[in-house]
Amino acid sequence: MTVYFIGAGPGDPDLITVKGAKLVEACPVVMYAGSLVPKAVIERARDDAKVYNSADMDLNEITAVYEQAHAAGQDVARVQTGDLSIYSSLAEQARRLDALGIDWQVVPGVSSFQASAAALGQELTLPEECQTIILSRASGRTPVPEKENLKSLAAHEATLCLFLSASLINKVVKELSEVYPQDWPVAVVEKASHPEQRILRGTLADIAEQMKAAKIRATAMIIVSKVLAIDDFVDSKLYDPTFSHACRKAKVIDSE
Ligand code: SAH
Repeated sequence: MTVYFIGAGPGDPDLITVKGAKLVEACPVVMYAGSLVPKAVIERARDDAKVYNSADMDLNEITAVYEQAHAAGQDVARVQTGDLSIYSSLAEQARRLDALGIDWQVVPGVSSFQASAAALGQELTLPEECQTIILSRASGRTPVPEKENLKSLAAHEATLCLFLSASLINKVVKELSEVYPQDWPVAVVEKASHPEQRILRGTLADIAEQMKAAKIRATAMIIVSKVLAIDDFVDSKLYDPTFSHACRKAKVIDSE
């Protein structure tokens, strides 16, 4: 018996992996995380599956479902939004399972930062301009360690993807303005990959106002990056005709 933690993807029910979908179809117990996991994903469950919504359960209640399934020898499909490696409470659930001697595995999912980049049609790394992506959040009711404060993360000028921060946009803008000029590019994607997806493009100067006007307070990804405004980047080495790598020999011999 195994508990499968399955990334459901960002909202579009077609964005769960084939492996994840097959497990949802096969497992006699399915537990999903509230409104962010699409109904169509849960509808894949067997007619006789026991289906639980974890939104109104605490960690003890969730663990009790795993224990019951274990006692009955029934696999569990535990479906959560996006990918399990980011803000998913995987660690605390897995710790309980380890203590109980219950096997578990993770099936990765498409994270909302990836779906947001897709919605923007934006590569988040650009050759020689930006080669790093930082996934983080603003500090609110859930504290962020002081060493990870936004100002210090911003100093890298890496692409910054902020989860769980839409309601804290004023604070985000204030802290980033200590490092970046007011025309620094920011994009916000609300409900990426959902039918009601919305995109805002702006700068530090106007993004808070735009979000307020659009009433965007949750389920939104804030992407802060110079790549959003760079058009004249150099081509990458990947498809460079003068560059050989493991899969391809150079066609044009570089004279230097
Ligand atoms: N594990 C998830 C993140 C869970 S934290 C993942 O990999 O995506 C919840 C936060 O994720 C939200 O506050 C929001 O910032 C972001 N989020 C989740 N779904 C989203 C979507 N469809 N569009 C934009 N942001 C989303």
